[in-house]
Amino acid sequence: MKKALFLDLDNTIYPVSSISDQLFKPLYNLIAEFENEMDQVELKNALYQISRRPFHYVADEYNFPKALKSRGIELLKNMSYEMPMRPYDGYDLIKTIPIHKFLVTTGFSKLQWSKVDMLGINDDFNEIHIVDLEISTKTKKDIFKDIMERFNYKIEDILVIGDDPESEIKAANELGLETFLYDPEDKHPDAQVTHKHPHLKDVLNYIN
Ligand SMILES: [Mg+2]
Repeated sequence: MKKALFLDLDNTIYPVSSISDQLFKPLYNLIAEFENEMDQVELKNALYQISRRPFHYVADEYNFPKALKSRGIELLKNMSYEMPMRPYDGYDLIKTIPIHKFLVTTGFSKLQWSKVDMLGINDDFNEIHIVDLEISTKTKKDIFKDIMERFNYKIEDILVIGDDPESEIKAANELGLETFLYDPEDKHPDAQVTHKHPHLKDVLNYIN
């Protein structure tokens, strides 16, 4: 029997695509100001990645001009999302599993907290951790380790649930933890994971 779930937020509990047009509009407008300074292929790829990966990584990977990176960070730091949000189907089943749950998400604190509020999921978790690259150098792996130590969890007690092989799944693999990759569009057919499913409710098969 598992004792705890470590869950990611973006694209794991709700689809970022459901809020990205509204949310990223000011950022897209800002990027448009720098269009002429950027390689067009890199720009296209960056726009695709921006709703999927932390802004810092995208800015570095696609060689954003310095001014764009710093203005983008400034913009995102102060951003929040205030419109109704809905979790994925299956999340309502996961939240009722009677074991400890920890939300560990990377992003800007104010924005991530506003999403937690709009989703109404605050009370579903024993602890919520925002890995904010502006505030701390701590990684998801550090947070996982810290929780395991404080709660005396063994490796086999935990299931890590996420959508990103490069983020929570990687951190979990490094710690030897069991993983569930939620991959509704089969974007990561070769990812190194314990379980991979197109439906979130299948988490329930791996609790016992
Ligand atoms: Mg995610």
